[in-house]
Amino acid sequence: MTAHEPIEATEKLFTRTQARVFRDWIRLAGYFVILVVFLALLLGRCLHRFENMALDVFSKYAGPSAVHPDIALIEISDASLQEVGAWPWPRSYHAIMTRLLSEWKAAAVVLDLDLTEATDPQNDGDLAQVLAGSQSPVFLPVDLRPKKEKKFWVHGLSVVLNKDAGEMGWVHALSEFEKSAKGTGHHDLVPDSDGVLRRFDPVLIRERESHLFLPLVAARNTLKENAVSVLVRNSFEDDQEKVLIPWVRSGSAGFSHYPVEDLIHSYYAIQKGLKPVVDPGKIAGKICLVGLTAKGVAGFHTTPLEAASPALRVYAHILNGALTGNWIRPMPFWVQALCLVAIGAIALFLFITLRSTLSLGAGLLLGMAWAGICFFVFWKWHIWLFMVYPLLLLLALFVFSSLYVQATAMREKSALFHLATRDGLTELYVIRHFRLIMNQIVLEASTRKESLSILLFDIDNFKKINDTYGHPAGDVVLKKLAAIILAYIRKKRPFREIDFAARYGGEEFIIILRRSGLKEAVQVAGERLRKQVEATRFEWEGNVIPVTISVGVATLRPGENVPDPMVRRADVALYEAKRAGKNRVCSEKD
Ligand code: GH3
Ligand code: MG
Ligand code: MG
Repeated sequence: MTAHEPIEATEKLFTRTQARVFRDWIRLAGYFVILVVFLALLLGRCLHRFENMALDVFSKYAGPSAVHPDIALIEISDASLQEVGAWPWPRSYHAIMTRLLSEWKAAAVVLDLDLTEATDPQNDGDLAQVLAGSQSPVFLPVDLRPKKEKKFWVHGLSVVLNKDAGEMGWVHALSEFEKSAKGTGHHDLVPDSDGVLRRFDPVLIRERESHLFLPLVAARNTLKENAVSVLVRNSFEDDQEKVLIPWVRSGSAGFSHYPVEDLIHSYYAIQKGLKPVVDPGKIAGKICLVGLTAKGVAGFHTTPLEAASPALRVYAHILNGALTGNWIRPMPFWVQALCLVAIGAIALFLFITLRSTLSLGAGLLLGMAWAGICFFVFWKWHIWLFMVYPLLLLLALFVFSSLYVQATAMREKSALFHLATRDGLTELYVIRHFRLIMNQIVLEASTRKESLSILLFDIDNFKKINDTYGHPAGDVVLKKLAAIILAYIRKKRPFREIDFAARYGGEEFIIILRRSGLKEAVQVAGERLRKQVEATRFEWEGNVIPVTISVGVATLRPGENVPDPMVRRADVALYEAKRAGKNRVCSEKD
């Protein structure tokens, strides 16, 4: 660009640079926000929550699909209560139901009912009798409940007998029921801190009494040879107390389930020789889970599949895991760590080698690929990979690498800018860049009606210096002269830091003096500089080189808004100074 090009072009160049700087800052601010969010996630317990959310999605869409045919749910539902009567039912009803299941050759009967307290002897006797005579093995729950204080009063003072009151303790079914049962198990389900049920205790140990989970006890009986214990022990790490519930992804509705009143109707229908609603063949060989599903009386849980699922249906999923062997296992720690390292390495390589927009795309693709792999592994092998940690690592690496790339780019840009605008020998501005600045400064001065002058100067007899001492000596002189000019500009008045100097040609220089009139420019700036150069010792290989300069001074005239006429006048003044005998300052003529 030359000084003749329109000023608007220069202006555009300046504003565009400002816009670019602004954009860089916006981007940096964006990275900063991402970083803060990342740290907040790490410090807060959000990570855990995200991991659970991912697990819930996997459970819903990628969990085991196989439903074991030997599971039957016998549900005491809202409809059952409406038809048969309000809860609790007399135990003779349970007796009828148990006898029915036994006669219909159920493989096992799990009675998930509260049988811990005695009711009237008639009803309790009925049930005890049926349990004792049942062909199918019956399994009963043991409850884990807070212990009640045992207190008695001595002369008005209370004496507490059991000091451990308030702790959890086992409460068994009445001994007349339990002695006929094939086995007992706990049925404690505790949701995660966010209220969602995801894990269960295969074994609970309290007060030196340990109990397997109730449906697992029934499964162990069916699978014989302690298969469930072996399975539980082998499938999960020893120190891991809780085990993920292997939710069947189709939901609880996938299991065979029968309302208890249908069974009872069918039982009496068969006795009367009528066609039953439920065929006894549907019960034969099944592990029957009997319990409540009615609202208000049954225990309900929020699960990844359903907002409110009765505990009985949760048992079905766990029993299904035991019968099919489809448990959800977390990936071993070392494999997770390996995945983290591998993803980190790939991401770092991509982010450093690709440009920023591309690396954002690559990061997104990589993240999606990882999520896809996690989903696939869960679906195919029922192995749970922690999805969120590598995703967060990706995010962090992207932010850090972007910051790194941007910082490097900024440094390179400023180095290139320096290279493009500065003269290699003197480190002053090259004339090309100086013209851009000069155009802008002249325009500003003319609109603000400020005074502005220029000094154009040339070394006297420089060719002779070159010829006498050699070209390198000439270079040293040029360098030292540039240092004098810069020192002058930094010393402020009449030179100011807002003044600019450039190498105008081979041994010619130009200085813009802002807010300086002609008189000040000639007498103060021009003369002072000339005298300083004359007084400076320029040495080269032991020789003192006499150096002087001739200076031409011009000032911006009213109405001028481009520098060219002023530069031309300064050139004429410089020529005058040379002609008048060199080593002097001449100002423009009117
Ligand atoms: P005058 O007093 O009339 O200006 O005489 P002069 O010898 O200085 O005349 P002229 O302007 O013709 O000479 C300029 C010389 O400066 C010619 C060139 O060889 C020399 N020169 C230009 N650039 C450089 C440079 O970067 N280094 C060196 N050492 N010499 C340079
Ligand atoms: Mg010269
Ligand atoms: Mg010259």
